[in-house]
Amino acid sequence: PARPEVSALQDADVAGLLPVPGAESDKYRRGVVGVLAGSGQYPGAAVLAVAGALRGGAGAVRYVGPADQAVLARFPETLIGTGRVQAWVAGPGLGDGRLAEVERLLASDVPLLVDADGLRGLSPEALRRRTAPTLLTPHAGEAAALLGVDRASVEAQRLRRARELAERYGATVLLKGSTTVVCDPAGQVRVNPTGTPWLATAGSGDVLSGLAGSLLAAGLDPLDAASAAAYLHGRAAHHAAADAPVTAQQVAEALPAAWRTTS
Ligand code: AMP
Ligand code: MG
Repeated sequence: PARPEVSALQDADVAGLLPVPGAESDKYRRGVVGVLAGSGQYPGAAVLAVAGALRGGAGAVRYVGPADQAVLARFPETLIGTGRVQAWVAGPGLGDGRLAEVERLLASDVPLLVDADGLRGLSPEALRRRTAPTLLTPHAGEAAALLGVDRASVEAQRLRRARELAERYGATVLLKGSTTVVCDPAGQVRVNPTGTPWLATAGSGDVLSGLAGSLLAAGLDPLDAASAAAYLHGRAAHHAAADAPVTAQQVAEALPAAWRTTS
């Protein structure tokens, strides 16, 4: 069969994906996103993932992990501790030795985004057993580790490697970097035109994870959630500081502006 098309994301495509609450909405129907992130060494990753999640259209964000005080200090609207969620974000700043918690989420029937440290030790078998959608959001180094190749070979053929990863793991893949590509297991590919190299800054990937997880919780499928998140994230960087250094926190704060100007 012919390979599905590779398409470049456009404003109108993304605008059509963004969840808009209606008169009948309540916070639970808008979706609750769970965030399993952060550690003693990386508490900020939890704060930034929650920041992205709060601006992604879900009705509430639930945080599980050791950075709850840091999260609450910055975002008192966060729910703390386990409870029902419509999608999980697992991995930013999680550090070593938390694989069991990620595995519990993998075994659940809740949509799941896995990023960063959550990607360590991930097996294709565990992903293939899943019944709910899965989205992986590696950068080139993390993708290389998952594929058992070197980073340069991912950088040299980003589209091919993203497809390979999606096929092998049976999951949708958002491969981050200078041109972010999103690919589902059936081989559909979308290329994100927004973004700037200024996004290559600590914590910006954590904001993206939270944002994409929030869109999953709002009911988007992984390909759409990843596409819309990458698009808004790149645009937010331009809003935050066109042609100047940005921080991850500024990117998160510019997400509402990016949302508003995507139409
Ligand atoms: P992470 O590697 O998890 O911190 O995520 C980094 C974020 O910055 C992702 O959204 C990448 O797509 C983005 N990024 C990294 N390098 C570049 C680059 N050279 N050009 C554009 N975006 C980039
Ligand atoms: Mg990262």
